[in-house]
Amino acid sequence: MQINKEIKIVLLNIDKKFKFLQTSSKKNFLVILPIKKILYYFNKKEKEILRKFLKLKPKNKLTYFGDVRKNFKFVVLKNEIYYRDGKKIKLYSQYLPFHVYKAFNSMRKTMQKEIKKTIVLESGYRSIGYQLLILIQELINNKFNLEKTLKKIALPGFSEHNDYFKTAIDIITQNGIPLNEKESKIFLKTDEYLWLVKNANKFGFYQSFPKNNKYYIFEPWHWRYLGNGNN
Ligand SMILES: [Zn+2]
Repeated sequence: MQINKEIKIVLLNIDKKFKFLQTSSKKNFLVILPIKKILYYFNKKEKEILRKFLKLKPKNKLTYFGDVRKNFKFVVLKNEIYYRDGKKIKLYSQYLPFHVYKAFNSMRKTMQKEIKKTIVLESGYRSIGYQLLILIQELINNKFNLEKTLKKIALPGFSEHNDYFKTAIDIITQNGIPLNEKESKIFLKTDEYLWLVKNANKFGFYQSFPKNNKYYIFEPWHWRYLGNGNN
């Protein structure tokens, strides 16, 4: 898809609306907002552009996870907090499917008990509507370089965060590491990461994108629940 000047302007507007929606939302409804509902907030031209993004096909054969059913059962994590430069920072509420929450909670408690350190859920389940909006934001951050963006953010419905049954989680330490790609190297040396490498499998969590994978950048913070652990 060619990103021309007109599309850029529309995307910048969408980004502003998204930020407005996010900050004005007390219930973090964006996480479970399906595409149909999200389109409600945009004008005709913006809808057209968003639909174009939904029609993009991933080059590699990734599975589509964009399924939203009424009987999905979520746990809302409202108190995910980290500390940076003496400041306490509260993350937006995150949603986890009930079965993934149980495994995550049990893993986090065990880590706390064993090494006196804890992890924070930076990102959990995302609907395809939410995935579309973070894709737009990242595209803007990358100065509209679509190729670069798609190495980091999956197309809506093609992210493991969109999969209700085998949801991926993004983890940071209590000090908020890593908050960006550059901090990955620091994260690799933390006790928390080393503990996860040794123990996460027992709780059903696996690293999806190791070094030199063909899909995305190396994501040591991204763990997918496959559910074949002891939970
Ligand atoms: Zn992730």
